[in-house]
Amino acid sequence: MLEALVKSGKALSAYEIRDYCCNQLGYDLLPMSVYRILEFLENNDLVHRLNTSSKYIACSHITCPHDHEPPQFLICKSCHRVEEVSMPDRVIKTVTQATRLAGFQLASKQLEIDCYCTECTLTKDTSA
Ligand SMILES: [Zn+2]
Ligand SMILES: [Zn+2]
Ligand SMILES: [Zn+2]
Repeated sequence: MLEALVKSGKALSAYEIRDYCCNQLGYDLLPMSVYRILEFLENNDLVHRLNTSSKYIACSHITCPHDHEPPQFLICKSCHRVEEVSMPDRVIKTVTQATRLAGFQLASKQLEIDCYCTECTLTKDTSA
């Protein structure tokens, strides 16, 4: 399943992961097991769940020895490519402060930012 996520290079829903495992890898997984495995992978920071789309993405730090910090994601609105990035602490602090000033509490330090990736920006430029 992790293989499915790493290979696809983009965020997949639990349903899409199940399909991939069945069609490409020959594993017929029960939806229950898919969710159980995803939960395990998520708890170990091997995959991340995107709050905005309820899809899963393989962590880009799987092979890193360092502690995993709250991830931020750049999500292309056009091709749905996802980049995991780490923002400097002060950026997160600023966001936290601004949130608090407005009387809100940040529910998650995982930020998901709508973007256009380089490729999509380029294609848009040429078509314009
Ligand atoms: Zn990660
Ligand atoms: Zn890393
Ligand atoms: Zn794109």
